[in-house]
Amino acid sequence: MTRPVIAVVGAGIAGLAAARALAEAGAEVVVLERSGRVGGALRTTPIDGVPVEEGADAFLVRVPHAADLAHSVVGELVHPTTGTAAVLAGGRLRPLPAGTILGVPSSLGSVRGMLSPLGLARAALDRVLPASDLGEDPAVGALVRARLGAQVLDRLVDPLLGGVYAGAADGLSVAMTAPQLTAPGRSLLATVAGRRPSTSDGPVFGSVPGGIGGLPAAVAAELDVRLETAVTGLEPAASGWTLLTGPAGRQQRLAADAVVLACPAGPAARLLDGLVPTTPDTAYASVGIVTLVYPPGTDTPALSGVLVAPSERRTVKAVTFVGRKWGHAPDAPVVVRASVGRYGQEADLQRPDVELAGVAAAEVGAIAGLRGRPVASRVSRWGGALPQYAPGHRQRVAALRATLPAGIAVAGAAYDGVGIPACIRSGQDAAAALLTH
Ligand SMILES: Cc1cc2nc3c(=O)[nH]c(=O)nc-3n(C[C@H](O)[C@H](O)[C@H](O)COP(=O)(O)OP(=O)(O)OC[C@H]3O[C@@H](n4cnc5c(N)ncnc54)[C@H](O)[C@@H]3O)c2cc1C
Repeated sequence: MTRPVIAVVGAGIAGLAAARALAEAGAEVVVLERSGRVGGALRTTPIDGVPVEEGADAFLVRVPHAADLAHSVVGELVHPTTGTAAVLAGGRLRPLPAGTILGVPSSLGSVRGMLSPLGLARAALDRVLPASDLGEDPAVGALVRARLGAQVLDRLVDPLLGGVYAGAADGLSVAMTAPQLTAPGRSLLATVAGRRPSTSDGPVFGSVPGGIGGLPAAVAAELDVRLETAVTGLEPAASGWTLLTGPAGRQQRLAADAVVLACPAGPAARLLDGLVPTTPDTAYASVGIVTLVYPPGTDTPALSGVLVAPSERRTVKAVTFVGRKWGHAPDAPVVVRASVGRYGQEADLQRPDVELAGVAAAEVGAIAGLRGRPVASRVSRWGGALPQYAPGHRQRVAALRATLPAGIAVAGAAYDGVGIPACIRSGQDAAAALLTH
């Protein structure tokens, strides 16, 4: 029996996970990647001799998908040495309370240091307010403001959403970003307090030795990946599909029995044009990571990082003290990552690298009390990298999947969640859907 040929478009972590699952099931798999490297938003590059993440820096290990894949292709995982973080809100650093869901706390006691007396009094109303009727999939902002008030939104929820999605609570769907908060008619504090406690005391996040870029590289090593091969067209064929690669006029053709589109929503929509009635019009945020290197011995707060509330009106929205987080040796250069760019406020990203690095260094100094100047810096830009899941996103994706022609599946952050585990699961689900047919 001949093996089915399956093409995967995009060698980000979702496409690679799909390709691996398909290859394991016996398919002949070809991965086509537009850029010159695998991994998409996972990229580790040395600066001053220290490997530092240019994009994603850790994956959740309390859900299995990324940890299992990392175990099977790399073997060993590494974990942060500290998870203690703070929020810059109301003009000062405040410890980020433990046990929240996307910043929504389980009790008022846990956020006493975070809120003003007025903010606390408003949040307490959550327990007595009648059920809020906000429709099937409200925006996070509408839900949190209605139940707990504006200060919980500004000091807890928006800083987290800015860090993870580069988005604001008013534009993001509860069902996509915090489905645990959708229980109807209950107080949010009670919903968070009533969730099943984690069965593990182990670490929350992980990566692989040498940096997260090692994960896609190890998956790709076992696959047929063709770099610098942009897919520019997709046509039905007598049996299966024809993929067109390369620029107009010089396109090459590749025949496949089935196709996984694991690229962002824009390129996927262009490839699906004419094949489905409609595709979700998903907006994307552009972000940047400014890596700052300070001399060994530079003192940083004993924190893994700081999230910055949008109301602080700073360019930097999150800071990671890389050496503290990953336990670098005391004589190593001190590396700090500053993350910039929120959806709809990307003007700061237009600044030249030197200027952006200067602003980030000044703000990191002010936020974290860091003395001295960085001896090296690097700006990593991610244009259109983080999808903004507007309310109703889940239904729009379900509608798309229901109309996909046989032999086509979609996967990745564009559809099923931005976290690395969610992307891996999405790729594996796409593979399973094709194999079932
Ligand atoms: C700065 C940053 C920090 C992040 N931090 C974290 C974190 O710490 N933890 C976490 O869990 N998540 C994090 N994320 C989110 C997470 O990394 C991404 O959501 C995830 O990696 C996306 O994977 P993907 O495979 O869906 O898409 P991508 O990684 O975007 O991969 C898609 C691939 O498709 C290719 N492509 C596009 N068009 C075509 C075409 N026409 N033909 C062929 N190939 C094409 C692209 O070149 C790309 O390689 C972060 C994201 C960013 C940007």
